[in-house]
Amino acid sequence: MSDTIFGKIVAGEIPAEFIYEDDHCVAINDIAPQAPVHVLVIPKKAIPRLADAEAHDQDLLGHLLLAAGNVARQLGVEDAFRLIINNGEGAGQTVFHLHLHIIAGREFAEGHMAG
Ligand code: AMP
Repeated sequence: MSDTIFGKIVAGEIPAEFIYEDDHCVAINDIAPQAPVHVLVIPKKAIPRLADAEAHDQDLLGHLLLAAGNVARQLGVEDAFRLIINNGEGAGQTVFHLHLHIIAGREFAEGHMAG
């Protein structure tokens, strides 16, 4: 499925630099970084929102967390990064193809819930 910008990116229809890729996901730098490190981990399968994931997506969801850890290690930020999933317009989701934000490289205020 390539109906969103991320669908087109994972399908190779829009060029993007994959800083990580495996069978199930890719990682790219966010085009409008909110921190020195702001990477998106995007599954190749198009699931619009986390809330749309189903039981058969369990392995994929676990895989995305492992991939995020791998990418964090690859970037040398494994000791301090934050993982964010915006679910739904009301939470700020703008691209309706599930993705994880890896945010790092700046100090996090203690107790903050968001990036
Ligand atoms: P969200 O608000 O969680 O849906 O996040 C969408 C993110 O995708 C935003 O942080 C955008 O800056 C980012 N973004 C949108 N288009 C692109 C693109 N072509 N390449 C990289 N990042 C993008």
